[in-house]
Parts: sequence; C-alpha cells; structure tokens
Amino acid sequence: MKYLFGPVPSRRLGISLGVDLVPHKVCSLNCVYCEVGRTTLLTTERKEYIPISEVLQELNEYLLQKPELDYITFSGQGEPTLNSGMGKVIDFIKTDYPQYKIAVITNGTLFWDEKVRQEVRNADVILPSLDAVSDLMFYKINRPAKGLDNSRIIEGLSELRKEFSGKIFLEIFLVPSLNDTEEEIGLLREAVQKINPDLIQLNTLDRPGTEAFVNAVSSEKMLQIKKMFEPLPVEIIAKAEIRKTIPGYKDKIEEFILETIKRRPCTEQDLIKILNIHPNELNKYLSGMINTGKVYSERLERGIFFKYCHKD
Ligand code: SF4
Repeated sequence: MKYLFGPVPSRRLGISLGVDLVPHKVCSLNCVYCEVGRTTLLTTERKEYIPISEVLQELNEYLLQKPELDYITFSGQGEPTLNSGMGKVIDFIKTDYPQYKIAVITNGTLFWDEKVRQEVRNADVILPSLDAVSDLMFYKINRPAKGLDNSRIIEGLSELRKEFSGKIFLEIFLVPSLNDTEEEIGLLREAVQKINPDLIQLNTLDRPGTEAFVNAVSSEKMLQIKKMFEPLPVEIIAKAEIRKTIPGYKDKIEEFILETIKRRPCTEQDLIKILNIHPNELNKYLSGMINTGKVYSERLERGIFFKYCHKD
C-alpha cells in the first residue's frame, strides 16, 4: 500500500487506518514542534498532490477485507486538506463503506475556504489545531505559508462549527515561553469560545520536534493551563498511554523496533528504511514506547537517535 498506513493504535482515535493525501512534507505550516520534520513545500495551493484514483483503489482493496477499525483517518506527512480531491475520498467511503467512521486531522488553516468546509461535511470528527492567536506567536510557532492570516483562520474554524454536524476536537500544542503565557492563553481562550469545539485537547512535546529549542511544558503547568480553560470542555492528551492495542500486531512491531535499537541506536529515517514502515505509524509506536520508558531519544549530530532503555 502506498497511501494507506496502519492500522495503528492512536491515542485519540483508537484503532485507526491512516490515509496519506499529500507527500512528505507538503504543508501550509512549518511548526517548530512538528514530529515529521521540516516542511519542504510550504504552500496553500490545493491540488491533487497524490492521485485520488489510486487512493480510492487502495482503499477499496483494503476495505473489501472488512477490517475492524475505529476510524479511517486523514492525517499523514503533511496537511491533508491541501489535496483538492479529499472530498471525493470522504464521499467514496461514506457511500461504499458507511460502516466506517472518518476522522480528519488538520492544521485547520484552510477552513475559511467554503469549498474545504463542504468537502469535510461528511466526516464524523474533525481534529483541527490552533496554537496561536497573536500574529507574533503564529509566526514564531507555526511559521505559516505566505498569505495565511490567523484571524481569517479563526473565522474559518467558527464557520466550520456552524456548518458541521459532527464532533470537533480542537488541539492546542503548547510550547514553553511561547504560547503558555497568561496573555496567550487568554487570547486562545477567547478564540476557543468563538469556535465552540466539542472538546479542547491540550498537548505538548513528548519526543523531539523539528527545532532543538522546543521542550515540553511541565505537567504542573499543563494542569494550570487546563484550569485556565475550565469550565470549557478541556483535557490534556500529552503523555497519555495508548489506550487500545491491536493484539499480536502491535507487540510484533514494538519487538522489531526494540530489537533493532538494542543492537544500535537509530534515527527515525533509519527505522523507516529497516522496518519498511510509514513515518506516522512509526511515530505512534515510538511515542508509546517513550511514554512507557522502553525507549528514549537523544539529539546527536546526525539527528535524533532512539535508544533502548536498559533496565540495569
Ligand atoms: S501543521 Fe502538522 S504537519 Fe504541518 S508543520 Fe505543523 S505539525 Fe507538522
């Protein structure tokens, strides 16, 4: 499969089959905390970055086997809404395989465009992110493509809320000394009230991001920030344990990863090549193994290395 990955146990969506709609790393943002590396094509141009007919063919072949899934998720190695054929894929699943729920994980930057809102209308859940309200923070954290305007993005998200009947879980990724200040949280709270999502999900780094200066916000600070959003519906998702597992399958992949890095520490790219695994799939396993203390990461000259935690 070229464009499908997993199914992977996901923190927020249970057992999820991933669908890639853009190649690595086409995105409208270049976030300092991104786990899939620097954006190589920073754009807001929508087009068929990946041929939709091929995605539909793969999905058809896969879903004919009636796999057990909690969600089919559009996420991947960049921003899925940049693919102008996304609506066709969503509609295909809903018509031919209505038993499956659809999730769209997006940076939320394109919902000011009515066409994009139309295309996601048949999804079951949309998980957009919003990390900054002030222009200064938007540029510092998200480093947007030319022409993106944050107030327009927030307008777009609140339009989406009015038109979309499914659930919206809004993620806020917190970066110490940038958007975790009282002032920024105050602005975010106002924006969130306007957007009115079903749930606010606070996240922070749980493994090294694109830029070395980005660290995790402490657990105490995360709790304080959560209180600042209350009584709005808010939860912390950082460092949550993977809730669901795929018996056998998950253990096998974990075992492979552990056996490989036990012999020698590897970068993400090394592991992708050795295990022939999709970056997002690998990410989920690495995050889970870091959280459970089986693996740790270290930034060295050639990049971020994953190492085995010897118990002794
Ligand atoms: S929007 Fe997502 S994929 Fe794009 S740079 Fe930010 S974190 Fe990475």
